[in-house]
Amino acid sequence: MTSPRNAIAAHRGGAREVAENSRAAFRHAIALGTDQVEFDLHRTRDGALVVLHDATLDRTTTGTGPVGARTLDELRAFRLRDRPEETVPTLDEVLDILAPSPIGLRIEIKPGPYFERYEGIEAALVTVLRERGLLSRSVVSSFLLPILEAAASAGAPHLLWLVAPLVQASVGRPERLAALARDSGVGELGLHIDHLDANLVAATRATGLELGAWAAHEDAQIEKALALDLAVFTTDRPKAALAARAARLAGARAGR
Ligand code: MG
Repeated sequence: MTSPRNAIAAHRGGAREVAENSRAAFRHAIALGTDQVEFDLHRTRDGALVVLHDATLDRTTTGTGPVGARTLDELRAFRLRDRPEETVPTLDEVLDILAPSPIGLRIEIKPGPYFERYEGIEAALVTVLRERGLLSRSVVSSFLLPILEAAASAGAPHLLWLVAPLVQASVGRPERLAALARDSGVGELGLHIDHLDANLVAATRATGLELGAWAAHEDAQIEKALALDLAVFTTDRPKAALAARAARLAGARAGR
């Protein structure tokens, strides 16, 4: 997806500003005027696509055990720990909130608790996005290349490989990361902000891939992401990031 530089994506809707992956968080991201919003996708035992981060319910909800072991009806009985008036939202409920706004979508397909893939989740997501006319507005992401390959086969046009620091260190040169990405039909790399520098940005850019950062949450990480002039970065603090970007722009205009 082509976007202006330094696009800001509200990670899990802005996890340090509102309860992560909640309806309130997605409304918050829109109200701020955030460029993009990131959220995570799992699948219930009866095939419903639902939005939460972990493969298990324990940390963020009143439920326990793997998301994939529960039916949607069972999930409806649990509350979000940080926002008890809410349940785990379905993908449809989240898209109902986001679709009327111009916000870009970054949808991370998660595996189960043992990194096992949810059979067919990629095609199910692409079908929903296509039916709603949201496919071109959506970047589908994963840490796992086989998930991205399945999403590419299903017709997702914009794919982002989230590169874990261990994988980045294992693969080594950015050209090799880029080659792996291309082999899987991926057009964008996402690296942890603490594992990026100007040389790596230049080398990755030379491969023709888009480059973004994830986990830019602290002030210094946000400033670093802005200084690197990336395509996009993901942050738990979209309000703070938008303010930091505006301050930099104002400073540049004032010739500071
Ligand atoms: Mg995510």
